[in-house]
Amino acid sequence: MTAPRIDIDTIRRLPKAVLHDHLDGGLRPATLVELAEKVGHTLPTTDPQALADWYYEAANSGDLVRYIATFEHTLAVMQSREGLLRTAEEYVLDLAEDGVVYAEGRYAPELMVNGGLTLPEVVETVQEGLAAGMAKAAAAGTPVRVGTLLCGMRMFDRTREIADLAVAFRDAGVVGFDIAGAEDGFPPADHLAAFEHLRRESVPFTIHAGEAHGLPSIHQALQVCGAQRIGHGVRITEDIVDGKLGRLADWVRDRRIALEMCPTSNLQTGAATSIAEHPITALRDLGFRVTLNTDNRLVSGTTMTREMSLLVEEAGWGIEDLRTVTVNAVKSAFIPFDERKALIEDVVLPGYDC
Ligand SMILES: [Zn+2]
Repeated sequence: MTAPRIDIDTIRRLPKAVLHDHLDGGLRPATLVELAEKVGHTLPTTDPQALADWYYEAANSGDLVRYIATFEHTLAVMQSREGLLRTAEEYVLDLAEDGVVYAEGRYAPELMVNGGLTLPEVVETVQEGLAAGMAKAAAAGTPVRVGTLLCGMRMFDRTREIADLAVAFRDAGVVGFDIAGAEDGFPPADHLAAFEHLRRESVPFTIHAGEAHGLPSIHQALQVCGAQRIGHGVRITEDIVDGKLGRLADWVRDRRIALEMCPTSNLQTGAATSIAEHPITALRDLGFRVTLNTDNRLVSGTTMTREMSLLVEEAGWGIEDLRTVTVNAVKSAFIPFDERKALIEDVVLPGYDC
């Protein structure tokens, strides 16, 4: 615990890195209303503030499956070139506004083909929108680098195809792969063909694991599938008893496997009970490579500034802790080593020298 307490304006200005942030979970409410009207999709309400509140309440159900169901509305407006360009560009601008300097945005292309776009067209369009956002952010003096992770949906059978897509676009902005969707009942090993292909092609990947399901899910993700990072991973704590680590927890800590932790999202899906008690603090104290993330900014009603502020206010975090999770995230980013090193030395560390 480090004093003195940091105010929110200082936190907003700090350089941040986010590895786990869903493109389709971060739309602006006003944009969602506008685009839904254009495509004739009915929303729970057409008032942007009421819609933001509706999301926050739906997300607070304590159930991962219900949480995921809220994406029906965002996905409805992300089926056209226009919808993808706009949401991708604004996605970057909102990150820049939040002080984010490096982000990995993830999305499932297979959920964006209902308007007639092909899978490669979806990826090309998202990259185009992100590039426009990055150019605008840089011109405004708040540069942010955004790479993408392509998600295969774990309850469907297109993950091998999406893995091919990640390989095809690896030099065009895609930096890795993930599987998303309901975790319970859909184990990572069901998608081994995709992960084996990615390993052969040397494309890095993370896997959502240890959120709705416990240690067996994390074990499979790492030891059967070969993930380089874990999405959430909060339930690794089940392998730590009275501060003593079991073999899997040892593996995660010893290998410096990043845990992409998302405190607010974890409270909402019931994977954690409070910010003060969220495992990110205990795991940080034990020396795990923890990173701090938003997961879904619209759905969870959050930002990186808010996640950092919550840890400062409710879990006693200080600026050194915020710097640590930021450096951890850049260290574990799926971009080349020299770029990570330059980001840490030239952007992140000077930004915390305050
Ligand atoms: Zn997620």
